[in-house]
Amino acid sequence: MKVVDSHCHLDDKQFATDRDVTIERARAAGVERMMAIGTGEGPPDLEAGIQLADRYPFIFATVGIHPHEAAKAVPETFERLAELVSHPKVLAVGEIGLDYHYDFSPRETQRQVFIRQLELAALSRKPIVIHTREAWDDTLAAIREHALPFGGIMHCFTGGPQEAEQALHLGFHLSFGGMITFPKAQGIREAAVLTPSDRLLVETDAPYLAPVPHRGKRNEPAFIIETVRRMAELRGATPEEIASITSRNFDQLCQPVVVPAKS
Ligand SMILES: [Zn+2]
Ligand SMILES: [Zn+2]
Repeated sequence: MKVVDSHCHLDDKQFATDRDVTIERARAAGVERMMAIGTGEGPPDLEAGIQLADRYPFIFATVGIHPHEAAKAVPETFERLAELVSHPKVLAVGEIGLDYHYDFSPRETQRQVFIRQLELAALSRKPIVIHTREAWDDTLAAIREHALPFGGIMHCFTGGPQEAEQALHLGFHLSFGGMITFPKAQGIREAAVLTPSDRLLVETDAPYLAPVPHRGKRNEPAFIIETVRRMAELRGATPEEIASITSRNFDQLCQPVVVPAKS
């Protein structure tokens, strides 16, 4: 099986002592490529994903400001993002969006920073990776207003069938993570079943949200296999088929260009 982890935080402190072996374990488990989310610890830490992508040919990156850190953005942040987004291994702008659960940044600031990054994605002709929590209507309103010209991913999709239909109607791909293995996540599983094959993605969001049977532990890209297996059961497919269609969808949306690692 060869699968793409469309969303992981490989720069996270939780991998500080064993990052390289974690990446090796992922490759040994069949994770052919990984998208390293580049939000880091928030501005001015904007190159967290790129640093990994520069080291490994099979790691790609995003750049962006997470809604949690929206309040740390200053004018120079947006100038630097506009430069970094054209790095050949940056495939998307993200994760961006709104998080009204934690409210780590004021909501109005979150909205402004989100919209500036929607504009940046449109200008740079790249898809977006959305993080949204308890802010569904405002997230969709911002996207409707600014359109989705180069597509996007609803990362760690946690809605039910109705939210899935709305996001699909806007043109999104839905990326499912370890939560589809959680006993109580019936609504998410229903969404996973109704998502058309050509809009389906899988991710770990490592180090967060490890799938069963690793639930509660640090998550890592190798564990995506559990999510792929569960997805296969739900959709009446083989794990290999799920791995293959989600990898193809990733490629079509993000158009990765293989660039040799810097020596
Ligand atoms: Zn997120
Ligand atoms: Zn994430």
